[in-house]
Amino acid sequence: MMKINIAQLRQAIGASQSFSFHGTVEELTGEAGELWLRGRLEVTGEAVNTGRLLAISGEIKGESALNCDRCLTDFTREVAVTFSETFREEGSAATDPDALVYHGDEIDITEIVREALIVAEPLKALCDEECRGLCPVCGANRNENPCNCVTASIDPRLAALEKLLPKQ
Ligand SMILES: [Zn+2]
Ligand SMILES: [Zn+2]
Repeated sequence: MMKINIAQLRQAIGASQSFSFHGTVEELTGEAGELWLRGRLEVTGEAVNTGRLLAISGEIKGESALNCDRCLTDFTREVAVTFSETFREEGSAATDPDALVYHGDEIDITEIVREALIVAEPLKALCDEECRGLCPVCGANRNENPCNCVTASIDPRLAALEKLLPKQ
């Protein structure tokens, strides 16, 4: 759980207050390790009292646990995911339709961080932009064991001609 105590901040228009949380993915978000990040996270940011609203923004730093789409190798990488959200006090005159509501002296950012991480999960994961993937013929990881398989696809109209070519 990540709760920011805003008892003082909410009294002081224009003031800002920084926050930071450290812990495992599970400790901070309650997710049982099924997110694409693993190990320890660092969540840092700032809450600002803008008068009508409290604006909270921050950054989540951690280590990705991904699987390469091309060569299927697990790899890790340092990642940073940003988030920002505005809050209005329950019952206040502020009517910003996008603002979330808070009550009392604490704002819980657990759900915001959890959602920011889910949204930021890469759709494509490559261990390296230059990853050469697996050989479709022999299955070798071509980053590690370049094989000599012939994988160029041949136009079916030319396949008949290919038969006439000398075999390697
Ligand atoms: Zn790869
Ligand atoms: Zn091969």
